[in-house]
Amino acid sequence: MPQSDIAMLIETIALDMRSAPERGVLPTYIPPLADVDPDKFGIAVLEANGRMHLTGDANEPFSIQSISKVYALTMALETIGAPIWSRVRQEPSGNPFNSIMQLESERGIPRNPFINAGALVISDILLSHFGAADARRAFLAFVRSLVAKTSGVRYDESLARQEYETGFRNAALANDMRNFGNIQNLIPSVLRQYFHQCAITMTCRQLAESGRFLMMGGRVATETAQSVSARTTQTVLALMMLCGHYDGSGSFAVQVGLPGKSGVGGGILAIVPGIASIAVWSPGLNAQGNSLLGTAALTRLVHATGWSVFTPP
Ligand code: GLN
Repeated sequence: MPQSDIAMLIETIALDMRSAPERGVLPTYIPPLADVDPDKFGIAVLEANGRMHLTGDANEPFSIQSISKVYALTMALETIGAPIWSRVRQEPSGNPFNSIMQLESERGIPRNPFINAGALVISDILLSHFGAADARRAFLAFVRSLVAKTSGVRYDESLARQEYETGFRNAALANDMRNFGNIQNLIPSVLRQYFHQCAITMTCRQLAESGRFLMMGGRVATETAQSVSARTTQTVLALMMLCGHYDGSGSFAVQVGLPGKSGVGGGILAIVPGIASIAVWSPGLNAQGNSLLGTAALTRLVHATGWSVFTPP
C-alpha cells in the first residue's frame, strides 16, 4: 500500500475515533490508570521498509502493562528456551487475565504466559536467571535495546509501588503457584519484578519500533539489540494470536486477524508479519480489559489494508 495512503488512512481513523460515542471504561484497580485522560488516542504504524506513520498522541508515553509480557516471554525463550514449557502451557485460557480458577485444577501450571499467572512464572524464571539484583535492569535494558530513542522508556516507580500495594489478586496467584512448587523465588521479589515490567512507559512510536523483531522474523534494527531467533518470534506471535487478548482473543482474531497483545493501560501491539508493526493507544477498555477504540481502530485499519493474516495475498 502506498505510504501516503497509510498516513491518510490513520488520520481518518483517528478523526473518527475521536468522535466515537463509546470510549470504554478506565481500570480502577490500578489507581494511577484511573486518572488517565480517556480522550487520549494514538496510532503508530512501522512498515517493514522502515517508514513510520504517526497520528494523534503517538508520541506520548503511557503504561504498557501487559504488553510487557511479550518482551518477558521473548527474554525467557532466548535465555532458557524450551524448559519453560514445563512450567507454563501454550493454550488459550478462556478466562479473564487475572483468573485463579484453573490454577487449582491444573496444579499451579498456568495455561499460557500472557495471563497474569503465566507472566508471574516468567518473571520468576527471569529472576532466577539474572538474579534478584539484575533482573529488573536486564529487562529494561532489553526493552530499550529494541527502540531507537530510549527517552521515556522507563519504569514508572510510583505506579509499580501502587500496584504492589493493591495487587492482592496477583499476590494470591503467586502464592498459590508457590504452594504447588511453580514459583521459586520469594513472593515479594516476584511481584516487584512483575509489577515493574508492567509499569514500563513507552510511546506508540516506541512500541511499534519494539515490535520490529516480531515483524521481521527476529531481525532487529537498532545496533544495541541482539537478533532474536526465528523460532522464538514464531512462538511469541502464535501465542499473541491465541492468548494475547485473554478471553477476548477469539473475537480479536475474528475482527482484526493479527497477532496482538493488549494491556490495561489501553495499548495494543499488533504485528503484520513481514509488513508492519502497529501500536495503538486509547485508555478506555472493553469488558475483557482490552482497549475498546484501539480494537476498533485496528479493525478499520486491517479492513482497509487487507493486512489480516487470514486474507489471501
Ligand atoms: N499489571 C496488570 C495486572 O497485573 C496487568 C494486566 C493487564 O494489562 N491486562 O493486573
